[in-house]
Amino acid sequence: MRIWNFGAGPAMLPPEVLARAQSELVNWHGAGLSIMEMSHRGKEFISVATAAEAGLRKLLAIPGNYKVLFLQGGATAQFAAIPMNLLRGKRATDYVLTGEWSRKAHAEAGKYCQAKVAASSKETRFDRVPPPADWKLSPDAAYVHVCTNETIGGVEYHWVPDTGEVPLVADMSSHILSRPVDVSRFGVIYAGAQKNIGPAGLAIVVIREDLLGAALPATPSVLDYTQQAGAESMLNTPPTFAVYLAGLTFEWLLAKGGLEVMERENVAKATLLYDFLDGQDFYSNPVAPADRSRMNVPFRLKDERLDAPFLEEAEARGLSQLKGHRSVGGMRASIYNAMPIDGVRALVDFLADFSRRHG
Ligand SMILES: *Cc1c(COP(=O)(O)O)cnc(C)c1O
Repeated sequence: MRIWNFGAGPAMLPPEVLARAQSELVNWHGAGLSIMEMSHRGKEFISVATAAEAGLRKLLAIPGNYKVLFLQGGATAQFAAIPMNLLRGKRATDYVLTGEWSRKAHAEAGKYCQAKVAASSKETRFDRVPPPADWKLSPDAAYVHVCTNETIGGVEYHWVPDTGEVPLVADMSSHILSRPVDVSRFGVIYAGAQKNIGPAGLAIVVIREDLLGAALPATPSVLDYTQQAGAESMLNTPPTFAVYLAGLTFEWLLAKGGLEVMERENVAKATLLYDFLDGQDFYSNPVAPADRSRMNVPFRLKDERLDAPFLEEAEARGLSQLKGHRSVGGMRASIYNAMPIDGVRALVDFLADFSRRHG
């Protein structure tokens, strides 16, 4: 029996996608071997990689002047690759800090450039996105970096920042494909796969072509976006199985009707959970309502001595991985694309029942 998996990542994948992978695992499409055993340069795998890219392009309506890269090292490798590829002769970059992930990206960039903090909500414990009026953008910055969904703190941008001529770079790891996005507003979008796409280790980078061609000379080849774009992301052996599985997830999303449909489902799921949390005082969510994440919902019990029994009972009911990130404590429910509304209903029923018995 499958559990309801509220883990933040590696996270739940659509059961249909897993079943399809299982049915094709040993003998892919009659080829007599599995995807994992194939040459990445053979026509079978090339067709898989091409279809995966086409699926992503269709879902996000990626304009023709953007390259799509399938890389390794997760989102964390991109924290370093972004400055190495995008400085383009400049020294300064701007980072907006809204939580743990934007902080980590900023710290890593500091090894390669003068990484400035253009805005931060640290003073209010990262409970919001700083309003645009408070952003101090430097005109000489090579780019502006944001994390559009903070997986740990549960803070999400529901708008696209306007950075003028300076390219906007976004870590979308934990909400990519949860809603439509106007890719043309961004210079680079990147995401680790293990939240909303597929297996950990794979990272997707969508980059505007005019930003290519100026990587720092010391950039490792595998992290050089220009070299990878020129080699169709096959400068070395790509993570073939992860690319295949991502492609199956893209097919699943397209069959469901694409990102408008996903957004409606995700709004319904998030509204159900937040309305419940706001309607009582046993549990609380610390995030400013306008900036709450539809994907990651942190919450606290009013008495933390109840945390352990809460988690134990939840687990016994098949509601798994609700423990909050070790840096913030409390609870967190991650409700990515793969989580159906029935899972959120089961969670809300349990929350109500537990608070009745312990309130
Ligand atoms: C999970 C996550 C990362 C790190 O991903 P890795 O694959 O572990 O490198 C970075 N940014 C965000 C927003 C994340 O959710």
